[in-house]
Amino acid sequence: MSDIISTGQQVFMENYKQLPLVLEKGEGNYVYDIDGNKYLDFVAGIATNALGYSYEPLKTAIKEQVDQLTHCSNLYYNKPSVEAAALLVKLSGLDKVFFCNSGAEANEAALKLAKRYTNVFVDEKKTKIVSMKNSFHGRTIATVSATGQTKYHEGFSPLFDGVSYTEFNNIDALETMIDEETAILMIEPVQGEGGIRPAEKEFLQKAREICDQKQVVLIFDEVQCGIGRTGKSFAYENFGIKPDIVSLAKGLGAGFAVGAIIASEKVSQGFVPGTHASTFGGNPIATTAAKVILEALDTGDLLAHVNHVSEHLKAGLEQLSSKYESIIDVRGLGLMMAIEMSEPVAPIVMAAMDKGLLLINSGTHVIRFVPPLTIEIEEIDAMLSILDSLLANK
Ligand code: PLP
Repeated sequence: MSDIISTGQQVFMENYKQLPLVLEKGEGNYVYDIDGNKYLDFVAGIATNALGYSYEPLKTAIKEQVDQLTHCSNLYYNKPSVEAAALLVKLSGLDKVFFCNSGAEANEAALKLAKRYTNVFVDEKKTKIVSMKNSFHGRTIATVSATGQTKYHEGFSPLFDGVSYTEFNNIDALETMIDEETAILMIEPVQGEGGIRPAEKEFLQKAREICDQKQVVLIFDEVQCGIGRTGKSFAYENFGIKPDIVSLAKGLGAGFAVGAIIASEKVSQGFVPGTHASTFGGNPIATTAAKVILEALDTGDLLAHVNHVSEHLKAGLEQLSSKYESIIDVRGLGLMMAIEMSEPVAPIVMAAMDKGLLLINSGTHVIRFVPPLTIEIEEIDAMLSILDSLLANK
């Protein structure tokens, strides 16, 4: 075992089950370990390195920004954060932006904004939160509480008060669950950690309708499915509706730590000076990265690429599914795809690594495919061929 791994095992807390691999370098859509072995990357830092590792405009912009200014706090404006926010507003059709540093923080901010808006402008008796079973919203106490999977709750009680979980894609259950005391409805348009499950259009449209009728703030968590991953800048564009607040992170920084929420003008009134803040939020390095990917979305070129290659990925996975009975479902949107298997997938993920392919599970029986959005057709074919050989040899 390498010294890095054994030292890591001594000095890190044991909250991660890390694979025995030390990554050192990225190039194109590949990563390399410290021994120079090359891996085709269908994980992308968990749906995060959206532009791969050799996107020149990103490298150049970051290098230039490092020479200019690395941090300045929110006491002052900085140009990259204003420009990135303006692009978020333009692309989302929403009105106001708050920057933070991660997905959990974005959801935390979304919950705080929705709570304060409701408390001040709607009705202070409306305090309840409804989220989905099987959802995932982050690891802070509030976002763990909003997460509809008990395995993430264990050992952390008492959780944040007043959260109920309703069945994803079940309109009747949603109608029953939301009452006069509900302040917030929180949904991932494509559930990520819950097994890559897209919402049904009718479900999200009904959710929007109920929220309008009952003055409930609708939050879409697009931390994993936003920023081009589904073939649209925002996943909600696939469903013909808009939330009141959308939360973002992961792909937004294309590998740099940045999160954000974008909200309607009306709901944004919930934040006034002193109500919320983040020292690093809007950091010029992080928002320079965001600006680069948002510009790539704005031109339409990146989305055209995602839509082109994702068809190929989907067709390839469906072909494997017709060949192997152990694949019981193929699902997803854009470059957020998955196969569900009749058996645990951990051995396949490990065997793929030995063959130079990085894969990631989502739960015990699902392999998800969330490569850089820059992935090419030949690389998809290479992944499918390795997966085919692993399934054939089982
Ligand atoms: N929300 C969703 C949908 C996610 O997939 C994740 C992370 O996987 C989070 C929130 C939390 O993001 P972070 O790990 O950046 O806090």
